[in-house]
Amino acid sequence: MKTRREFLKVAAIGAAALPAGAAAMRTASAAVPDGLPRLEESDPAAVALGYVHDVADVDTARFPRYEEGQLCSNCRLISGPAEDDWRPCSIFPGKLVANEGWCSAWVAKG
Ligand code: SF4
Repeated sequence: MKTRREFLKVAAIGAAALPAGAAAMRTASAAVPDGLPRLEESDPAAVALGYVHDVADVDTARFPRYEEGQLCSNCRLISGPAEDDWRPCSIFPGKLVANEGWCSAWVAKG
């Protein structure tokens, strides 16, 4: 369970990423007219939150709070159809994250 302080920290990082995400969305949307682009692991916001496409690649030394079973697909912040392999995430606006991915902003679904 995340503490209030952890939640506020994640919210601040997400808010800081919004302008960059919006700008990237405009650029990437032009390149991918049929949908949102996938979030790159090298994206600065992704790096800051330790996002990986495959949960097996989580840096557990850097993110010791990671627990087995945590996935983007069971995070409260993901949206879109569950059957889609790549879905929108409110932490990374304008990008799609992998159902099998993870980042340190993970929050259990209610
Ligand atoms: S763990 Fe949650 S907040 Fe992090 S990228 Fe996946 S869906 Fe988004």
